[in-house]
Amino acid sequence: MKTLSFLGNDSDSAWNIFVTQVERVRPHLGELEAWIETLMRPKRALIVDIPLEMEDGTVRHFEGYRVQHNLSRGPGKGGVRYHADVTLDEVMALSAWMTIKCAVLNLPFGGAKGGIRVDPATLSQKELERLTRRYTSEIGLIIGPQQDIPAPDVGTNAQVMAWMMDTWSMNVGATTTGVVTGKPVHLGGSLGRVKATGRGVFVTGRQAASHLGLPLTDARIGIQGFGNVGSVSAQLFAEAGANIIAIQDHSATLYSAAGIDIEALSAWQQKEGKIAGFPGVDTVEPGTFWELEYDIVIPAALEGQITPERARNLNCRLVLEGANGPTLPQADDILRERGILVLPDVICNAGGVTVSYFEWVQDFSSFYWSEEEIYQKLDQIILNAFEEVWKNAQSKGISLRTAAYATACERILTARKERGIYP
Ligand code: GLU
Repeated sequence: MKTLSFLGNDSDSAWNIFVTQVERVRPHLGELEAWIETLMRPKRALIVDIPLEMEDGTVRHFEGYRVQHNLSRGPGKGGVRYHADVTLDEVMALSAWMTIKCAVLNLPFGGAKGGIRVDPATLSQKELERLTRRYTSEIGLIIGPQQDIPAPDVGTNAQVMAWMMDTWSMNVGATTTGVVTGKPVHLGGSLGRVKATGRGVFVTGRQAASHLGLPLTDARIGIQGFGNVGSVSAQLFAEAGANIIAIQDHSATLYSAAGIDIEALSAWQQKEGKIAGFPGVDTVEPGTFWELEYDIVIPAALEGQITPERARNLNCRLVLEGANGPTLPQADDILRERGILVLPDVICNAGGVTVSYFEWVQDFSSFYWSEEEIYQKLDQIILNAFEEVWKNAQSKGISLRTAAYATACERILTARKERGIYP
């Protein structure tokens, strides 16, 4: 499936997962289908070379990207990923998922994403800062508070955003907090942003569970990934009385039938930088994670994790997509046939970008809301979107993903059509 001349043929590549997902929405678009090609390619993609002087005086080159998939509804919005496996294909898909996500939530943004192919754990703090500053300068041509607003993603955090904000501001000669979101709170960051994605997974997941008649008390939950998204959702589900029986990250797969102590594990991870070695639980083979008996599974790491084979064996009632693109389209079909409900990424993990939107608004007005106000507005926006998509899926007999894409595509393609083609 080669949709663009410079891409490979891997049908499971992140970009091709996105294309398949969009293809599935065609029959539900009416006359707007005529505009669907708009979504099948990014509006703009920038590839940059980042030369970095290492601590030992040598120079290494890193490849970075910023892709603006669609800007019909507003400026580009989306994170920056630092990971050893980042490719243009992946960043394109991630930018496209942002287009859909912002439209489902009705945030006034298009979709964008950036990334650098680098394992940040191999760099010193100074190298990381220089890498970030040079990358920001290179993509400075196309980002800006009214153009495209980066944020954290896998491998980046509030400190990286502070360097990005400073670099862009130095280059234009004025402190511009609204150029990135997910910044430290005293630099124009929003209260609640760090926990926002995990909170969104919890709030939408709790709602989906309640529609299924699945009580959270003693629910058995498995979580893949223990970064910002996995750890916060683990904590919130544990507080609601669920048992987090398995957690997997790159270092280990932990299992405890009685439930893992999330607070203690978070403290361990803070100290050790990984979950491996955490005492008092069993360490099992990575493959075992997909074979345990659960009520809820939360993939909160990278894309493409739920393959058709894993979907055939998965033992749960509900999948909450904390990660972007964790389920392959064929696996989606298998889960649906097996009666396992999938709450798609574009709603489930949209809490992060929703609070990013609040941060951007607060930066413009220089007026800041309390954490309570942020959570109240977040819950309201994300639950409204959830219920709208739920109703559409029920009434049309389609999956939540296709229903979410139908809502999003209708908004994006209506905007596209109304704007018309220039010149
Ligand atoms: N990286 C996050 C996501 O995938 C947040 C993006 C943002 O806040 O702009 O949704």
